[in-house]
Amino acid sequence: MEILVARSAGFCFGVKRAINIATECAQGAEGEIYTYGPIIHNPQVVKELEASRIYTRGKLEELEGGTVIIRSHGAKMEDFTLAGDRGLKIVDATCPFVKKAQKIVSLLSKEGYFVIVAGEKNHPEVKGLLSYGGSEIMVAASAEELKDMPHKKRIGIVAQTTLSVEKLREVTSFCLTRASEVKVFNTICDATKIRQQESTEIARRVELMLVVGGRNSANTNRLADLCRAIRTNTRHIEVAAEISAEWFEGVKRVGVAGGASTPRWLIEEVVKKINALTTKDSKSR
Ligand code: SF4
Repeated sequence: MEILVARSAGFCFGVKRAINIATECAQGAEGEIYTYGPIIHNPQVVKELEASRIYTRGKLEELEGGTVIIRSHGAKMEDFTLAGDRGLKIVDATCPFVKKAQKIVSLLSKEGYFVIVAGEKNHPEVKGLLSYGGSEIMVAASAEELKDMPHKKRIGIVAQTTLSVEKLREVTSFCLTRASEVKVFNTICDATKIRQQESTEIARRVELMLVVGGRNSANTNRLADLCRAIRTNTRHIEVAAEISAEWFEGVKRVGVAGGASTPRWLIEEVVKKINALTTKDSKSR
């Protein structure tokens, strides 16, 4: 069995940075340490952090004191105010690429553009981005979601950092039919672009594609969708234990990719399991 592993699989820069900030915080801080929402969308890593006294809380209102870490996706502007009002020590681990997208939203709003955040409305990063705009702002993940939008004078588009280029292109093309001026900022981060590119290249070369990462991770889900569009035989798994020997019947080459929030050790466990179930040959692309 030949195993092609995406070189990019493993934590991205922003996730590594946020986890380092959280662990450093746990070493020095007195009192409780919380992350506002899971620090990354990977249940295995969140469990590991609990062993270092770093707990996840979904509501700032529940916290009576201590330190709150803002994760790499960022948070809404009003969340920072609320945390401050509650006397919490705020440690901001927002990824610099997300910060940049927040600044662009704010700037476009100030310049009078109708802002469209291309992304998923329920994703915490997108909710955060929306809070940096004025009242003339909306979120859309596809052209379909924009079909009822009336003509606008000027539209400014900002992408969720983990969006696919295809989706940004779809939203942009549609907006060109609704305004005479459309300003687009491609805020999809490099880590996302590289992962999507490498994973889809691998998907073209294999009979089975495994995408490893949290089922609650938007970027892993997107990666799996992109791979599935190329290779129907794509499976999204969280851990190696999910892999079944039957998947490899008639398969000579298998691809392994992981989202930006998937730790490298989970990828290594998956490779080990494939080897145990098939052959011992593996190579990284
Ligand atoms: S995926 Fe990109 S924007 Fe998001 S945390 Fe990682 S590096 Fe930052």
